[in-house]
Amino acid sequence: MIKYNLTCKCGKDFESWFSSSKEYENLKKRKLVNCIFCHSTSVKKSIMSPNLPSKSNKSSEKTNLEKNIRKQLINFRKYIEKNCKDVGDKFPQEARNIHYDKKGSKAIYGKATPEETAELLEEGIEVDTIPWINKKEN
Ligand SMILES: [Zn+2]
Repeated sequence: MIKYNLTCKCGKDFESWFSSSKEYENLKKRKLVNCIFCHSTSVKKSIMSPNLPSKSNKSSEKTNLEKNIRKQLINFRKYIEKNCKDVGDKFPQEARNIHYDKKGSKAIYGKATPEETAELLEEGIEVDTIPWINKKEN
């Protein structure tokens, strides 16, 4: 058995079990995979559950998923670079300045070690960690 998290165009997520990834593909082709909320057939797989038997993990599917995530991360990176100020290694310091000075909500990004990130979070400073993907890599 294989568990997929499915996402519908209506915005809902739900889980569904299939005997194999092949069965899922077959049902999908025959439009028999329906959204449990709106019964639409415009559903697609989202992130797969980690407890899959490794045998049924088709590598091509995995690559596509990775490519998609990669693409999203690259877009996310572009967005941040366009809208936020790069403060590099000074990130923890700059984040504190903004937090304690309350000088509006200047958006910044930069580098911080996991320890520094944990410290910031402990101080109640909102930071997000994202995988910083190299655009040139393919
Ligand atoms: Zn739906």
